[in-house]
Amino acid sequence: MDKFDSFGNEYHPETLALGLGYNPSLSEGAIKPPVFLASTFEFKSAMEGKRFFEVAYGLREKDPNEQMGLIYSRINNPNLQIFEERISAWDKTEKGAVFASGMAAISTSVLAHLCPGDVLISSKPVYGGTHYFFENILPRFGVKTFQVNIRDNMAEAFAECVKENQIDPEKVKMVYLETPANPNLRMVDIQQVSDYCKGPLKGALLAVDNTFLGPVFQRPAEQGADLIIYSATKFIGGHSDLVAGVVTGSEKNLAPIIEHRTIFGTMANPFTGWLLLRSLETLSVRMRRQAKSAKKMASVLLEHPLVNNVHHPSVFTGEQKRIYEAQCSGAGSLISFDVKGGEEKAFKLLDSFQVARLAVSLGGTETLVEHPMSMTHSDVPKHELEAMGVTEGTIRMSVGIEHFKDLKRDMLQALEKMDA
Ligand code: PLP
Repeated sequence: MDKFDSFGNEYHPETLALGLGYNPSLSEGAIKPPVFLASTFEFKSAMEGKRFFEVAYGLREKDPNEQMGLIYSRINNPNLQIFEERISAWDKTEKGAVFASGMAAISTSVLAHLCPGDVLISSKPVYGGTHYFFENILPRFGVKTFQVNIRDNMAEAFAECVKENQIDPEKVKMVYLETPANPNLRMVDIQQVSDYCKGPLKGALLAVDNTFLGPVFQRPAEQGADLIIYSATKFIGGHSDLVAGVVTGSEKNLAPIIEHRTIFGTMANPFTGWLLLRSLETLSVRMRRQAKSAKKMASVLLEHPLVNNVHHPSVFTGEQKRIYEAQCSGAGSLISFDVKGGEEKAFKLLDSFQVARLAVSLGGTETLVEHPMSMTHSDVPKHELEAMGVTEGTIRMSVGIEHFKDLKRDMLQALEKMDA
């Protein structure tokens, strides 16, 4: 299947997820791509092998319409390639690369683009593993990193950071955003930060972790982001049965990342690629259903006397609401909320659910609940979490595809037990 029909109409991503990049006649007519469990691929001739390597190692440009030949599964593999075409079509970018995990995608992308002496500035909070990489690992490679708390005007906040720390703007090679942020769901105006990167920062790359809303409800390339990064372990995989990561962007920005992936060996394996293809087919259906239930759950929580603050884009107000409406087409299914009574009550609630499962991670078909302060964010100092609105009573919930009436009943009975 091509991206366009015979009249030149572009297919939607949901349609492309079922056919783009796969030709059944090359696989005995199989309606779905088989799993290509092969470490290496046979060349038709020595000359063909030589020509494939020339392209893979950048020794010559591809001829017009020349397809990159299959060589070795650390370099390329049909399951990975088909998935990469489909996910980059969804993000409206030129190219995609799939990795063994979200952290493999993040670390390979950053190391491919930054050198000793360069500066990376990120929004804060970011996922704990990303935070650790920025704080403890990148500095060992001579990269200076700064993290700036999310507030409504992030271009201004980054400019203040550059000024206060006397950073040479030309040394800032990457600005990194996670929006919405984990676990407080705060959003950053991507277009505003993109303008700041392209203007005062003289072309710093803008990378956006799009795990929470993308690619169904948020496509940062449309607001000027250069690298769109995912933990595909979450919604894209969607069934809590695999670990993977993705980066999409322009051919130019992906080239060094793919080069580093080949050498670091951080690519996904063929079976994970196959599972991701299966999952991508239902991504839009799952994310929309989950978001619908999450919106209803947010209003149940808002009205509950034992709940203090509810964070979900559907209940945003002021500037956060404006940002949400400008750059997202749906609110997603992550909610965080505070229960009255601190850790003791929060734990009692977590131990009382019968449908929702007590586990970290998110984006799977099942509803998951966790306690950020003692679990996913336990390495962040308490006062920093409190400054971001994360308290001892904060619970994070990833709403799944169960029947909403069961989820609502489960929440109400758990809150009742918590209070007993
Ligand atoms: N980005 C976000 C927003 C995450 O929540 C996570 C994991 O929880 C990651 C990146 C890292 O992904 P992975 O666990 O697939 O390495």
